[in-house]
Amino acid sequence: MTATNNSLQSLSTFALPAMADTLIHLDQPEQLSTIDFQSLGAFYVLGGGSNSIFLKDYSGTIIQPDFKGIVVDELEHSWMLHVAAGENWHQLVCYCLERNMPGLENLALIPGNCGAAPIQNIGAYGVELAKFCQYVDWFEIATGNIRRLSLQECQFGYRDSVFKHALKNKGIIVAIGLELPKQWQPELSYPGLSELHQPTPKQVFDTVVAIRQSKLPNPDEIPNVGSFFKNPVVDKQRYQRMVTDYPGMPAFPQPDGLVKLAAGWLIDQCGLKGKKIGGAAVHHRQALVLTNVDNCNGQDLLDLANHVRSTVYETFAITLEPEVRLIGQTGEITLEPIV
Ligand SMILES: Cc1cc2nc3c(=O)[nH]c(=O)nc-3n(C[C@H](O)[C@H](O)[C@H](O)COP(=O)(O)OP(=O)(O)OC[C@H]3O[C@@H](n4cnc5c(N)ncnc54)[C@H](O)[C@@H]3O)c2cc1C
Repeated sequence: MTATNNSLQSLSTFALPAMADTLIHLDQPEQLSTIDFQSLGAFYVLGGGSNSIFLKDYSGTIIQPDFKGIVVDELEHSWMLHVAAGENWHQLVCYCLERNMPGLENLALIPGNCGAAPIQNIGAYGVELAKFCQYVDWFEIATGNIRRLSLQECQFGYRDSVFKHALKNKGIIVAIGLELPKQWQPELSYPGLSELHQPTPKQVFDTVVAIRQSKLPNPDEIPNVGSFFKNPVVDKQRYQRMVTDYPGMPAFPQPDGLVKLAAGWLIDQCGLKGKKIGGAAVHHRQALVLTNVDNCNGQDLLDLANHVRSTVYETFAITLEPEVRLIGQTGEITLEPIV
């Protein structure tokens, strides 16, 4: 289960050249209890690497939980799915659609593994994982037991969950439980979907796939991790002041009264599309995506990310926070405060 080739380049979709001291690939949850976490030192749990960037060689252990299996239980009004952490998310969406269990189509084409989906409560086109997640099975390092965490215990928020806070580095997701109601209600509030008239789940899926393919660079062709920054959320007063200055500014009112702004639009307004520092570049079509275009290294990417943040701050007085996990030599790092 311990690998000899510890290159991380092909294990992260940003594909920076980096090595790990040790890499442990796991096929079965039972193998988790054979790891001596006490003496392991620094470790990082890695799924598909589509939200993780290794800026340097990592002096620690990479753990890859690659457990497989999908179990479907049909209830009167819904389908219950128990999905192992190593299953690919997009393949799960296709699997459900092929078996006439709709619901996940707005989340089509999000790369990565099902085990990572709760970490940032993946979301797209008005739908988040939290809408369907019933539980998360969690290997708790302190006790060596697998606990079932309820939806409430997961504390899902916008690109957020308990796994980024109280439970950070305290365990490993083994499986997730989803409930898909049989009464399907399409979520069509987002631009691109709102034009659809009484669509089938397959039409929603096809439209989401087509929009994403036209907007987002394929990481296999241009290495990237999707949205580099989170969309900032502001209060209504702040939004109203901004929209007076920028009448065309896209905005998404939230159920709690706050307003989500489009980070990509803010970056675009600063004229940063195509901006390049070393081998890192802001994508020329989608400003929220930073890309590895030309043998990028970790410093190029940090310089570009800091440049984007400070320019957006100077223009809009808004601080963009990364959506991605940036991993340095000894663990996760945060971007420097804007001065
Ligand atoms: C082109 C592109 C488009 C994207 N679009 C979207 C989008 O629309 N919406 C969205 O929300 N995200 C999007 N993403 C981001 C990414 O796909 C998601 O965050 C995804 O859930 C990451 O999965 P992964 O397996 O690749 O995670 P990784 O990068 O491997 O890990 C991400 C985090 O999860 C942790 N983790 C992984 N597996 C486990 C586990 N079993 N137990 C505990 N912790 C674990 C890691 O430690 C890390 O903190 C996009 C990425 C790309 C490249």
